[in-house]
Formats: sequence, structure tokens, C-alpha cells
Amino acid sequence: MSTTKYIFVTGGVSSSLGKGIIAASLAKLLQARGYRVTIQKLDPYINVDPGTLNPYEHGECYVTDDGAETDLDLGHYERFLNVTTSQANNVTTGRIYQSVIEKERRGEFLGKTVQVIPHITNEIKERVQLLGNTGDYDIIITEIGGTVGDIESLPYIEAVRQMKWEMGDDNALVIHLTLVPYLSAAGELKTKPTQHSVKTLMESGIRADILVCRTEHELSDDLRRKLALFCNVKQEAVIQSIDASTIYDVPNMMLEEGLDTVTLQKLNLKNSKKPDLKKWNKFLQRHKNPKGEVHIGLIGKYVELQDSYKSILESFIHAGAENEVKVKLEFIHSEHINAKTIGKKLSKLDGILVAPGFGERGIEGKVAAVQYARENNLPFLGICLGMQMAVIEFARNVLKLKDANSTEMNPATKNPVISIMEDQKNITDKGGTMRLGSWKCDLKEGSIVSKVYKSRTINERHRHRYEFNNKYREQLEAAGLVATGINPDTGLVEIVEIPSHPWFVGVQYHPEYKSTVANPHPLFVAFVKAVHDHAENRK
Ligand code: GLN
Repeated sequence: MSTTKYIFVTGGVSSSLGKGIIAASLAKLLQARGYRVTIQKLDPYINVDPGTLNPYEHGECYVTDDGAETDLDLGHYERFLNVTTSQANNVTTGRIYQSVIEKERRGEFLGKTVQVIPHITNEIKERVQLLGNTGDYDIIITEIGGTVGDIESLPYIEAVRQMKWEMGDDNALVIHLTLVPYLSAAGELKTKPTQHSVKTLMESGIRADILVCRTEHELSDDLRRKLALFCNVKQEAVIQSIDASTIYDVPNMMLEEGLDTVTLQKLNLKNSKKPDLKKWNKFLQRHKNPKGEVHIGLIGKYVELQDSYKSILESFIHAGAENEVKVKLEFIHSEHINAKTIGKKLSKLDGILVAPGFGERGIEGKVAAVQYARENNLPFLGICLGMQMAVIEFARNVLKLKDANSTEMNPATKNPVISIMEDQKNITDKGGTMRLGSWKCDLKEGSIVSKVYKSRTINERHRHRYEFNNKYREQLEAAGLVATGINPDTGLVEIVEIPSHPWFVGVQYHPEYKSTVANPHPLFVAFVKAVHDHAENRK
């Protein structure tokens, strides 16, 4: 019998209550007490992974070192814990069914009728215990996506019921996150939705051990007593989660509410050591007391939905704190940038970031933004598609290859400065087939990036099908756009810079996936510093 303890986080009443942040905050507190913790997200939708989902549907797709395309909550887990996650940390219904159906085709069920219980629930249980069985963790926190009562969640809730029954209350714990809404007409917080949600959970055979109540107003003692009585939990297990000004405040708020203490008591684990949050609080202190402010334009086409750029936004928070400045991001829709609007939209900025993306829509605005940054000596960072746009802009406006393009946007271009990678040419499936995960990159001596990383070799995460076309490398370098990061095994160009520009860097990979509170990403830190220096010089 393994000694790993399991914590399940379910949600009720409404979606978007912040289960991921509560799970990450609890994990942070447990980690700060010396426990080895990881978090896992189970998503009840039928897509095998979120890689094929439109950002409008699902926000950012987060990529792990091992190349899994995952839910953006995994980004929060890594940023809070500074521990890497993997494919095992995110499982969807699609993946569960795919695996069960493959086993059935191989005859592994020995002629049995394959059913939701036990076959699907067994597969879920196996996936939950996979991380526990590695022996690397004392505690696994599993977040169940969706809301109890959803048809899609039923097999997961049933798997949790079984695990709690099999492992016992000391080894498996359920935290239920609900909403306590405020009715302004009545001037009151209402507990009824929470009561109903706890009841729905009970109908599935699960008693919540701890209630975390999302609220806009303080929960009074009376209200906590009432919730405890009606929902079958101890009063100290009614935890208030009041709206926070930053997600990074939530661990301290949960500490004050005693979420970690009740958790440890219920799991029969020692809680004598106080959590060590020194480093975390130093970051918070810097984040909340900036000494200056910089304005960076984020040029993308999903700017209405900031979840699409989640990791980039968080990376700027980490890098801002490190530089002790507030990074004010101006979200600029690339489709709204044209010759007429560009001056007005970009002239007040201290730096420009051109975001990742797919497809033709909005790319001319991105190319124009790169040109603006290049010609006006504005610090520039291009990520993935943003780096590709920088190459296209340079080819068009400096090399005068007017039709230079990516074959993604124009397969017939005579100057494919960005083209499909050789091993992508025959791929027809969309899911999980891009160049994904962590790849090695050698940095050129004397380049900006070699100073930034203070290293000659780095590993960064990728998610793309197209690449810098090496046929144009000589011409581009002779004209001043230099390749400063190369994959040592394939020769793929991963980084470009313009040495004659104060700070111009385009990267084919996604540095934003690796920035954490404990380790702000050096490239973002350096970019924010360059932007700050530029702003100061301008004054
Ligand atoms: N669409 C580009 C490619 O596939 C860039 C992808 C990205 O920005 N993540 O190569």
C-alpha cells in the first residue's frame, strides 16, 4: 500500500470559481511545510487534449517539457510550485476513453462487456495513482474540472467515491469549492446554492471534508456555523476564499484561513512546521511596491480574451517584480493595426511583444508592429509566430523581398522565409502532431541571449509546425538579422536578433511556459529591463 495521500478538489454552483488557484495555493502551503506535492487536472471534455481547441473556447494551451498540450491550470501549478508537470498531470475524458478502447481492441478485457463502471472508472483511478506510484510525492492534489452534477463529470466523481472508500478518510480527502453569492437587494450572503451543491455531491456518495467558499464579502461566524451544520463539515473546515487583488495573495489567504492545517489534520499528517514562504513573500512585496512603471504593447489577435495569453501575462508579473517595476500591458488587436492607426496605437509604448498565434488573420498588423519596433529602436520580443513575423518583416522591408511570407499564410509565396518543417510535411492529423516540448538550443557567443541566459546551451518548450528557412539565413545575416540560437541536432534556427538595434529578440520557442515565481524567466526579466531603460532614456 502506498503512503501517498490524495486530495480531490471538486467544484459546485458555478464554473470559474478558481479551483486551479485554490489547488495551487494549498499545494504551495504544503510544499512550504516540506511536503513533496504535485497537482493533476482531470478534464471532463471529450477532446483528447486541449491542443486542438480554439483559444476562445479554452484559453491558452500550456505545453510541458515532455510535449503534452495541456490545460492552462498546469501553468499555475508550475508557477506556484516551481515543479515541472507532464502528460500525467492532465487527463481528459477523450484520453481515458481512447485508452480504454485501445485496450478493448487488444483484447485486454478478456471478452467482458466494457462499461463506464468499472472500466472507465478504473482507468481514471489508474491515472490518478500514476503520479502517486512514482514515489516522488507525498501528496497528490487532483482537481476535477467542471461542476458536480454535470453529466460529463459523473465517472470522475464515481472514481473519487471509490478511491475514498478504498483508501479511507485518512488517505483521501475531498475539498469542495462553491460560491456563496451576495444578493445586493437583500444585502445578504446566501448559503443555499452551497447546500444544494454539497447535497448533489452526497447523492453521488461523497461527503465533502472541507468547504472552500468563494465570496465577495467576509463570511461571518454565524454563516460559517450555518454552512457547517447544513453541509456536514466541521466549522474549522469552512474556509473563506474572498476575492483577491492578485492570485499570488491566495496562498497567504488560505494560510490565514487554516486550509493547510485542516487538510493535514484530516490526512493525519504532521503540521508542526510553519510554512516557509520567505521567497514567495519577497516576490509579493516587490510585486506590490513597484518603483516605476513601463508600458508594453502585446500585439495579438485574441486580446479580448486574456486567458489566451495567460503564461505571458504571468511572466510579466514575475519579471516586473524582479525589476521592481509595474508592467502595464496594453492589449492591441493586430487586426486594428494599419498604416493609419499605427502611430496612434504604438507611439506611447516603451516596448513591443508580438504574440504567438496561428493562421493568416491579423498577421499584417503584426508585421507592421515589428517594423515599427525595429525602425523606432523600441525593445522588441517576438514569441513563436511573433519571431516568424520578425523574419518576414525584415525580409520584406530590408531585403526588399516584397512577397516574403510563411507558407502557413501563403503556400505559393516565391520567398518562403518561414516554411513548413521537413518532418511536418506529411502529417495530416492536427492533434498532438506539432513540434512540441523541450528542445535544446545552442546560443551564439556575444549575443543578447547568451548574456541573458548566462549559458551556452538552453532547453525551451516549443509548439509550432513552421520554421525559419535556412536558405535565407546568409542573406538575412548579411543584412543584419542574425541567428543567435541554433538547435545543435537539426540546425533549426530558434532565435534571431538584430545586433544594431538596442534590444530586438525573436524566439521560436515559448519562454513564457517556464517562468515561475521562484524563477522568473531570464528573457522576460531582461526584456522588461530593456524596456525600462528605454523608458528612462526617453524621459
Ligand atoms: N503558426 C506558427 C507555426 O505553427 C506559430 C505557432 C505559435 O505561435 N505557437 O509555426
